Amino acid sequence: MPGRESSVLVVGGAGYIGSHASHVLRRNGYQVIVYDNLSRGHRFLAEGFELIVADLADLSQLTPALKRVSGIMHFAADSQVGESMRNPRKYFSNNVQNGIALLNAALDAGVRKLVFSSTCAVYGIPATIPITEKTPRQPVNPYGMSKLFFENALEAYAWAYGLRSVSLRYFNAAGADESGIIGEVHDPETHLIPCALKAVMGERDSLEIFGTDYPTPDGTCSRDYVHVSDLAEAHVLAFQHLDNKQGAAQYNLGTGSGASVQEVIATIEEVTGKTVPRRIAPRRSGDPPELVADPSRAQAELGWKAKRSLREIVQTAWQWEQKLQRRCQDAALQR
Ligand code: UDP
Repeated sequence: MPGRESSVLVVGGAGYIGSHASHVLRRNGYQVIVYDNLSRGHRFLAEGFELIVADLADLSQLTPALKRVSGIMHFAADSQVGESMRNPRKYFSNNVQNGIALLNAALDAGVRKLVFSSTCAVYGIPATIPITEKTPRQPVNPYGMSKLFFENALEAYAWAYGLRSVSLRYFNAAGADESGIIGEVHDPETHLIPCALKAVMGERDSLEIFGTDYPTPDGTCSRDYVHVSDLAEAHVLAFQHLDNKQGAAQYNLGTGSGASVQEVIATIEEVTGKTVPRRIAPRRSGDPPELVADPSRAQAELGWKAKRSLREIVQTAWQWEQKLQRRCQDAALQR
């Protein structure tokens, strides 16, 4: 039986970023228990790990799992901006209410370390770029509000109960593990890189470019795309940081440079050697023109820096999308 000290509960570990963190934790010698209700996660992304399929509200499952670990990585959340505008109830219930239930159960089980999957959406539409951790947090949609609420709860739990935590504010997570075993699977898929790759493969007619009249050099939105394996590595560093650090800390995780939608498409065409079928569409509501991180605090305090380029993001995402397509075709044949 592995020791509690080296064991981590990865809540939402059957999802995109959580599954990558589970693999990196294991490569760093940790014992991982994945906890996921599979509402958005996928069993095959947790293959090879102990998987507990249960809701956060189910204390009969959660409490015994917490008693076996020294800390938590919390990824379980809804994360679609548009959906959060239409159905905020779902976002406050899953991201806030269930998240707080997890914190309370953790305290009761004697767990005092947590790494939280936060987002640059807590900043809303920032007045200045790049975004530092001191940029005002003014989310403009219920998704960002729910993440901010949880960050604030972590601060209060640090003062009152000594809960140590790190909130990692991701910019645009993309790419897939180099092993080809895990990657991004969303249903419906809304993110730029997988949508563009699906258009290349003929799985969708074309990629819609949401707006070409933004105040940016080529008129399309600019984002800070960061490789999911770089994000996963940041989680392990953050977790180790908590051994010597009290309180609640927050870090931006990005590369520090932006790429426009047009630049991403150009990289995809270079990597795949194929054209991305595309058409210009109206702006998507709520999209800020530019979101780029200043990741220097994470570098100074966690020793983290994104190592992988946009090209590597696209290469690994392309390898993964092709694998996913074969997997779906095989499943269809077996039916
Ligand atoms: N985008 C696009 N077409 C798509 C999906 C996204 O033009 O089908 C743009 C979107 O407007 C944004 C950028 O690509 O400027 C990244 O969007 P994504 O949904 O991947 O991430 P977000 O920045 O919303 O978290």
